[in-house]
Amino acid sequence: MAMETVDSLIVGGGLSGLYAAALLAAKNESMVLLEARERLGGRILSPEYQGFFTDLGPSWYWPDIHPRMARLISDLGLKGYRQFEEGYGRFQNPGGLVQTVRGYATEPLSWRLVGGMMALITKLSAMLPEKAVRLEYPVCNIEKAGGGALVSVGQLEEEPVARFKAGRVILALPPRLAASTILFTPELPADLTQAMLKIGTWMAGQAKFFALYEEPFWREAGLSGQAFSQRGPMAELHDGSNRDRAPYGLTGFVGLPAAQRGGEQSRLIDAILKQLAQIYGALATRPSAVFYKDWAREPYTATRLDQPPMYEHPLYSPPAHQSSFWDGIIHFAGTETASQHGGYLEGALGAAERAVN
Ligand SMILES: Cc1cc2nc3c(=O)[nH]c(=O)nc-3n(C[C@H](O)[C@H](O)[C@H](O)COP(=O)(O)OP(=O)(O)OC[C@H]3O[C@@H](n4cnc5c(N)ncnc54)[C@H](O)[C@@H]3O)c2cc1C
Repeated sequence: MAMETVDSLIVGGGLSGLYAAALLAAKNESMVLLEARERLGGRILSPEYQGFFTDLGPSWYWPDIHPRMARLISDLGLKGYRQFEEGYGRFQNPGGLVQTVRGYATEPLSWRLVGGMMALITKLSAMLPEKAVRLEYPVCNIEKAGGGALVSVGQLEEEPVARFKAGRVILALPPRLAASTILFTPELPADLTQAMLKIGTWMAGQAKFFALYEEPFWREAGLSGQAFSQRGPMAELHDGSNRDRAPYGLTGFVGLPAAQRGGEQSRLIDAILKQLAQIYGALATRPSAVFYKDWAREPYTATRLDQPPMYEHPLYSPPAHQSSFWDGIIHFAGTETASQHGGYLEGALGAAERAVN
């Protein structure tokens, strides 16, 4: 099998990997980006419905505290809009009783992106040289060789389907996933492997739901769309509408842990719509479209260690305080390795900048 030689090789085509690739392309370095899935974006996923993009992964950014996101959005010519938060909230107790509660604006203010978060991915990938991106290229093996690395693509137990020789490699995937699915030769030190395995992948155990409607009937009833429930299946809900026209949306996070979401998807969706009717009224049972994504079942996001719920946002940093290893041949990117804003989109950008510089 022919071996391709490149200056830089990026593993993972989520926001971090694509941003790193765009920064390298601007420096005219030869580079390939290998993405395991058949699509780019990683945890960013925004299926289109009537010209609206439903964010099933991240939907918010916070321009007041995330300067890289604010700058990138502006540089790419994209536009944001404030999360709709006007009106009363709703609260459902464990017995199912629903109360109207005072609404509030999140602090700092949350913004959504016109075109969904996927717009970032579309714009960044358009900045890369032709053939730089390879889809359905899961990296399974990385070997230190000469002054660089040999990278094999395929399934571990089979012959590789492609091989690359790279001067440096940027690991732009969750460190826990890298430690669980990629073989490194020579072996990584035990403390580094353990640190990689211990870093929880942010939101990997979550499932997100989106219902779209022609009318924002909750707004007309004085409700903001924000709701919290101690009964479920949804634990937290928000208005997830298009900027200033239909479709309007209700969206949020499923409260059931991953282990309890195994049954038929249609039954869970029925239960969610029933709950939405309890919170927002009967019109909620008649959406024009629904979307559901269980991230815990995505092998290129979540491992077995990510199945139990994560109740707190971890304090992320490079694994074992190392942002690179093998004398600077391999560099960590990916939001979970960021020193600031780890877990968020902002962290994905910060870690990519560090890896490239
Ligand atoms: C439901 C949900 C809601 C969220 N909400 C927000 C929010 O509102 N605001 C916010 O800032 N953040 C939010 N986040 C977090 C945000 O999505 C992440 O911070 C960001 O997308 C991480 O980007 P990344 O490139 O570091 O990782 P990823 O997006 O995980 O990208 C890693 C890439 O590597 C690929 N890959 C994996 N294994 C291999 C392999 N062996 N070979 C090649 N490729 C591989 C994957 O397919 C993937 O494309 C949310 C996440 C989820 C799941």
